[in-house]
Amino acid sequence: MAEYARIIIDISLEKLDRPFTYRVPEELEGKVRIGDQVQVPFGKGNRKLTGFVIGLAAESGLSKDIPIKELEGVLPSGSITGQLIDLARFMRQQYGGTMNQALKTVLPMKTPAKEKQVQYVELTLDRSRAQELRTQWEKRHAVAKVRLLDALLAEGELPFTVITTKLNVSSTVIRGFEKEGYVAIRSERTYRNPMEFDKGNDYRPTLNEEQSRAVEGMYENFEHSPKRPCLLHGVTGSGKTEVYMELISRVLKKDRQVILLIPEIALTYQTMMRFYHRFGKRVSVLHSRLSAGERFDQLERARRGEIDIIIGPRSALFAPFERLGLIIIDEEHEGTYKSEDKIPRYHARETAIYRAAQMNGMVVLGSATPSLESFYKAQTGEYAYFSLQNRYQGRALPTVSVVDLREELKAGNRSMFSRTLKEQIQDKLRKKQQIMLFLNRRGFTGAMSCRSCGTAFKCPNCDVSLTLHKDGKLKCHYCGYEIPKPKLCPVCGSKYIGGFSAGTQKVEDGLMKEFPEARVLRMDADTTRKKESYEDILSRFANGEADILVGTQMIVKGHDFPNVTLVGILAADMSLIEDDFRGAERTFQLLTQAAGRAGRGEHPGNVVIQTYQPEHYAIQTAAKQDYAGFFEEEIGFRKLLHYPPAGHLLLVLMKAEKEEDMEALAQDMKQATETMGQKHPVVIIGPADARIRKLNSIYRKTLYIKARNYDELVAIKNEIEKYREESGYPYGSVSFDFDPIHGE
Ligand code: ADP
Ligand code: ZN
Ligand code: ZN
Repeated sequence: MAEYARIIIDISLEKLDRPFTYRVPEELEGKVRIGDQVQVPFGKGNRKLTGFVIGLAAESGLSKDIPIKELEGVLPSGSITGQLIDLARFMRQQYGGTMNQALKTVLPMKTPAKEKQVQYVELTLDRSRAQELRTQWEKRHAVAKVRLLDALLAEGELPFTVITTKLNVSSTVIRGFEKEGYVAIRSERTYRNPMEFDKGNDYRPTLNEEQSRAVEGMYENFEHSPKRPCLLHGVTGSGKTEVYMELISRVLKKDRQVILLIPEIALTYQTMMRFYHRFGKRVSVLHSRLSAGERFDQLERARRGEIDIIIGPRSALFAPFERLGLIIIDEEHEGTYKSEDKIPRYHARETAIYRAAQMNGMVVLGSATPSLESFYKAQTGEYAYFSLQNRYQGRALPTVSVVDLREELKAGNRSMFSRTLKEQIQDKLRKKQQIMLFLNRRGFTGAMSCRSCGTAFKCPNCDVSLTLHKDGKLKCHYCGYEIPKPKLCPVCGSKYIGGFSAGTQKVEDGLMKEFPEARVLRMDADTTRKKESYEDILSRFANGEADILVGTQMIVKGHDFPNVTLVGILAADMSLIEDDFRGAERTFQLLTQAAGRAGRGEHPGNVVIQTYQPEHYAIQTAAKQDYAGFFEEEIGFRKLLHYPPAGHLLLVLMKAEKEEDMEALAQDMKQATETMGQKHPVVIIGPADARIRKLNSIYRKTLYIKARNYDELVAIKNEIEKYREESGYPYGSVSFDFDPIHGE
């Protein structure tokens, strides 16, 4: 009996976005499974392409005179995969794009296993000589050197070999050791999991009352109504991770598996070790340092049921667990849970909820500053709500001062450090405590405001900040509204109008001038080009090698620094006047999270927030760590303008190679959507130039569609796709982003 396979060809062209039927040759019968990657001849020239099997049938369903080609080979991905294919279908429907793009996002990719070089460090001294050196270095406070020796000696037996990534010591220190002849560094091709722990110690701390209540509540929800997601709202340092671990161990006892999503930037060595120590080799971490082959190996282990917990960033969501019972999304408010550069532009939150429901599992969303979306759903009762209101062991939240930069300017202080911040820095330096200075800058935003009165220039239609473009105009990139750049502030008449251009380098220079005795470390995109150096810098700071760490939002997450007692936020306005509707939310989150870094050890903490708009509710409420107060204000604004979560927003991104095609495409889409809009209660905004008007010599424009219900937007998206297909995809291309986080 012949067998036929329905195959999605691995080419992301809208035109080819449908299944093709192939005959399974005799020698492969019974060997082809749904989800496998196969090789097929395609098109007139029978080009060899790969595709995904999405269905198998005994009949081709096609008329006899249509010739059917045979597929030529299987690359068994062996994934579970009926469910993952169904998930891909859901994502394609919810977020747009082709089925092939959705499948590629969801299915584990078989890549030829290129083995990565693994570096080992080997001590070349004998133990007594090593001990001698250790004593000398300790006297000289060479902390990093001592730590490296200890790590090597702790290995017990000669030749004291350790994999470099396991050391938590900067590569500079290690290379220095090599030069001095203390160690040899060697590389091996074979991959060994650097974190193989046989058995976790299953150590459980005693949870406090709040923590226990959260665990009990969520576990009960897991047993009785798993379809209902839980929101765990716990202030920074309240012990959310401990709560997760306890809940995980209970779910494991039910023989179910767990996926824990953590933003890449928070997935530090410290965090990994907490899980390895407790759960041993039942855990696998999909961090970005794994090669494609290693990653595939880990996913294969997951499929075979050799592991029960997968920890990783967004894409770990697709781990092929057969007994999945729980998906936890830590720091659920983070923008990185939304895929923005790759299609489909899915959000991990909704996708996780769909995936968990497939297996009757549960989703837990955790954050100190929940997204407006999640808190809104907790209020309506769609999510179950649990809170941890106190820091573990009752450590006090830090004391926050808000500094008005307009007053500094009036007092003649033009430095980027206010008088209050300078005093505080001085004080902490004297006490030998540590300081973090934080610049919440994200790429280029050309947003401007008045330095004298704080006025930000906003679009009268959309209430988002206007941004300065090359032609000297201030523009709204939602609706296209524009005005010439004002020379004087329309409110106070001041001529101090500007953007924020300070970078971390400038902050570092400023510190050197004002505090020449301070040891400063800087962390931003420049200093962290290499993956390793990010952890390097954090571990050097944790190790006391600097007094002040300067950085962008990168430094907000991750390590616990018990000796940090001052956090300074240099320009809170930078995110406040971002040109999209999430500016205030992002500001509140950044300030609250940054403040949460201070005073985690035995000494109480201080936070200084510098701003031109001290009266803004995002700043006022963040200073008081008042989430509920912030939510009330912000949801009012969202409701007024029907922004998510009070309404929904579909971004239609249009691209074309020629400028006239771009214009034509934008007009065509505007007309088409307006016609569609007559049947659906939606508002169409734009078209406008995208933030980046031309990228890789391709023009870009946006159209925003607003609706009360998400489903209306999905319906419009489907109609646009149909319209594009029927009209033969003229001018250029179109893609979608639902409830965008950053927009285009
Ligand atoms: P969060 O994830 O909410 O920021 P963590 O789970 O990292 O908080 O906890 C903060 C610190 O408090 C950690 O060092 C953690 O080990 C400790 N901690 C939290 N809960 C407990 C507990 N019940 N027993 C012992 N230590 C705890
Ligand atoms: Zn002004
Ligand atoms: Zn506008």
